[in-house]
Amino acid sequence: MDKEFRSIIVQACRKMLNEDLVKGTWGNVSITDGERIYITPSGYPYDKMKEEDVIVIDYEGNVIEGSRVPSSEWKMHVAICKARKDVKCILHTHPIYASIASVTMEEVPSLIEDSAMICGPEIRVAKYADPGSWELAENAAEALGNNSAVILRNHGLVNVGESFNEAFVSAKVTEKNIQVYIEALKLNREIFHIPESNMKKLREKYLKFYRQ
Ligand code: 13P
Ligand code: ZN
Repeated sequence: MDKEFRSIIVQACRKMLNEDLVKGTWGNVSITDGERIYITPSGYPYDKMKEEDVIVIDYEGNVIEGSRVPSSEWKMHVAICKARKDVKCILHTHPIYASIASVTMEEVPSLIEDSAMICGPEIRVAKYADPGSWELAENAAEALGNNSAVILRNHGLVNVGESFNEAFVSAKVTEKNIQVYIEALKLNREIFHIPESNMKKLREKYLKFYRQ
């Protein structure tokens, strides 16, 4: 598992960069085995990342393996892992449309069915707090709830999943849904929402059957 987790994180870094979900060294990725958290080093270039650069920490933030400094957002990764036992992978990114929502909105409704299924009925914006703080960690975990996406006020996006692929798809679909909402608002026409009862069914269908 150790080698596999490290390899997934290295590939995840390249994929986040290629999808334009991050710029420079911002953002971070983690995978947990339930006791330990494999996490990216802080401020380290994604295109240079190797398996040995990945840091292993415990839930108190102690470094168990690795010589680099763990991500400055390790508290947020710990808080989400503690709040959501189903979560194995966490991606924190700074994409453009989620960033626009982070400075203008309280929440973004899931307007399209893939977002309703994979992200949840809405993507909420967590209250502002300093990056790297326990306050940001708790605000993020609270606003995430049972969804797979949460926006951080004036900051960026967090997506979670049972695997890297699930969290990565959630990040791409979240960004697409927010883009759809922002572009639809510009048209100044009525925006049609998925009815509440259908929304619930879509999410249940995804969690029970679709992701197998
Ligand atoms: P790290 O480089 O320390 O992981 O932090 C980047 C970031 O996005 C802070 O919110
Ligand atoms: Zn950030």
